Amino acid sequence: MPEVFEQDPARVLAVYAHPDDPDVACGGTLARWAGRGAEVHVVVCSLGEKGTTAPALSPESLAEIRRSETRAAGAVLGIARQHALGHHDGELENDAALRGELVALVRQLKPDTVLGPDPTAVFFGQEYFNHRDHRAVGFAVLDAVSPAAALPHYFPEAGPPHRVDTVLLSGTLEPDVWVDISATIDDKLKAVGCHRSQIAGDEDWATEALRLRAEEDGRRAGLSYAEGFRRLRLGVG
Ligand SMILES: [Zn+2]
Repeated sequence: MPEVFEQDPARVLAVYAHPDDPDVACGGTLARWAGRGAEVHVVVCSLGEKGTTAPALSPESLAEIRRSETRAAGAVLGIARQHALGHHDGELENDAALRGELVALVRQLKPDTVLGPDPTAVFFGQEYFNHRDHRAVGFAVLDAVSPAAALPHYFPEAGPPHRVDTVLLSGTLEPDVWVDISATIDDKLKAVGCHRSQIAGDEDWATEALRLRAEEDGRRAGLSYAEGFRRLRLGVG
């Protein structure tokens, strides 16, 4: 029987590559937990300044547009704080620099639950394969959380160690827990709709596709709408 993730985390850190990623990947879950009293932080690693098909739109202008879209989306979901790392789109690497930034945030914010993209999910049918930045960030999140953030000799300048209990990986081909987003599906779609630079002209198609995906995930878990994740229980070991 599919497992519904019932816990209500107290402190949540969601780490994603591009400005719209958290809302698409887990916006319903973040809104649910924020609404139930969690302190929800979102980290966006890149500026998203190359996410356009319009050559006349400069990367600097697009980065500014995406910052304001991100702020609007965060307000819809009830995000406590958004952290922008400002890396260049398409150039994220799972290197010591990025891991160090993530370790510092984990130690400072002390989340019990961390969300990020499943880096092992590469091919989604014949129409899409996972963006390299998503894969890089997914592995960086895992490596930053464990062992780095939990052990004092990794990045000793980044504060005292912190051990994360639970990691939930979105965009996974192997989900094993589902979060009920029946009460927050509308917030998720509204947040995604804030990213007009990414869906201009296709708003209805994009939100309908996400609604159908949440409905399909919900069906697997016996819920109206859900987001599915691969779960790691690091606090158990
Ligand atoms: Zn992305």
